[in-house]
Amino acid sequence: MPRRQLSIWHKFLLLCLLFLVLLQLLLMGEVRLFLHPLVLSMEKQFADSQQHRVAMVLQRELHDLQRISQDWSSWDSLYDYASAPNPTFANENLIPETMDGLELDLFLLYDKEGRLISSLTSQDEAGMPRALTLLIPPDLQHLQLFRALFSRPSGDKTDSFEGIVPTPSGLMAISLQPVLHSDKQGPVNGALLMGRLLTPAYLDHLAQIAGVPFSLSQVSAPQDFSRYRIEDHRVTHVTEPWQEPGVPSLLLTVQVSSELGQLAGETLEYAWVFTAVALGGLTLVFIYLIHRLVLRPLRQLEQYVGLVWRNDLQAIPAPPTRNDEIGRLSNSFVGLLDELAIKQQILARYSYEDSLTGIANRRRFEEVFTQAFLRAKQASGSLALLMIDVDYFKPFNDHYGHPEGDKVLQQVAMAIARSVNKVSDLVARYGGEEFVVLLEGADLAVAHQVAERICQNVAQLDIPHASSRCANRVTVSCGYTAGIPQGKDNGRRWHMVADESLYQAKGAGRNCARGQQLPPLSSG
Ligand code: GH3
Ligand code: MG
Ligand code: MG
Repeated sequence: MPRRQLSIWHKFLLLCLLFLVLLQLLLMGEVRLFLHPLVLSMEKQFADSQQHRVAMVLQRELHDLQRISQDWSSWDSLYDYASAPNPTFANENLIPETMDGLELDLFLLYDKEGRLISSLTSQDEAGMPRALTLLIPPDLQHLQLFRALFSRPSGDKTDSFEGIVPTPSGLMAISLQPVLHSDKQGPVNGALLMGRLLTPAYLDHLAQIAGVPFSLSQVSAPQDFSRYRIEDHRVTHVTEPWQEPGVPSLLLTVQVSSELGQLAGETLEYAWVFTAVALGGLTLVFIYLIHRLVLRPLRQLEQYVGLVWRNDLQAIPAPPTRNDEIGRLSNSFVGLLDELAIKQQILARYSYEDSLTGIANRRRFEEVFTQAFLRAKQASGSLALLMIDVDYFKPFNDHYGHPEGDKVLQQVAMAIARSVNKVSDLVARYGGEEFVVLLEGADLAVAHQVAERICQNVAQLDIPHASSRCANRVTVSCGYTAGIPQGKDNGRRWHMVADESLYQAKGAGRNCARGQQLPPLSSG
């Protein structure tokens, strides 16, 4: 089974489609592999900076707590109170007003043996002390067991500490300081712990200072936790990557509006649609131009060639002329066909022409005779056939040579041609030194006249013929017949009758014409 070939047009359309799909894939790849990660990394950087801001605010908060607790822990009166608690100091200083003034929720004082000697908690909205006592370790050793979820660097003082710890009332910022003299000299006389609860209202206040909304929570199961999550244009950011599974840690969630990503996404989407539409439009224009400039002219040329194959070259109008590559190809092709037409004409002429004399050859005569015979038969018209033979031509050749004989044949042909008048009359070389003349519409009398004229015109050429036995110049004998073709009549009978007459002319001494009316067809 022969393989079906796609047309150029279909191949071209397929290529365009492929090109579009590839381009779109390329664009998609570019967006996915290059632009999208770029936008994401910018978002992460932004989230990092926001998280850093919040961490700084928290550390500043711890630093503030540290400053207050250091003020108190290096107060000589507190130093004395830690060694010998007295009600005067407690009544004046360790009171709810102090807690309110310092915005504290927890105040713990331990003596140098680590025993708790004083504890204060803030009051809730109902005026009740907060249930922080549950948390209060009875001694410093227990306090050390606390693991801070978040702490700031403690500097060179290893016995002081700031950090965020979980409590039943929520997360709390704490600062622990050794109790010292006001000159910050030892010996250490106990430990002071101040705590500030990170209530939602307080965290909101901190968020406003940072200018970034955030939340804090305690987490202890970090198995499938990823550092960044982008959901609904919100970025979740943790404080530290997880090192020790199971160890509680503080999760700082910074909520950053992902406007940049959203904007970039919209821009990319817009650019994507725009590119697709622009490319589609360009491809359509390209297809239209290719169709108009290449395929249509090619089809016209193809149609033209098809017509040329089926019809006569001359009858077909050439395709429209254009001044481009296809136009020039078309012109060359039309030129080639013109050349072919001329060559065909020449060939046709050669196939119907006698090469020696230039008059019609026997093939041409046969064709014309057949057609004329049919026409005469249909129209009951008259037809005359003359056969002419050069007399003693063999002796002429023998005497003067063959080339001279050829010249004689050419002259005789011209003389015979001069002897007929009508355009429809045909003179042909029948073979060797024999010629035939066909006179359409001529009767026996006309045929006789023409035959006589031929003999006369040839004789008048006055070509010497020393070896002729009938004259001293070249002569011809002519036999003719005329009649109206009938029923079962055929051309061969006419030839025979004309030939018979020629034979009679030869018998009568040559250089003369003899003829007879075509005898009627015998009914048998
Ligand atoms: P007749 O009068 O009885 O016709 O005698 P003839 O010699 O003409 O007849 P014959 O048929 O014996 O000879 C015909 C000669 O015509 C023979 C041949 O050499 C010559 N001939 C035929 N064709 C050509 C030709 O093309 N060129 C030349 N030069 N001679 C030709
Ligand atoms: Mg002969
Ligand atoms: Mg002869």
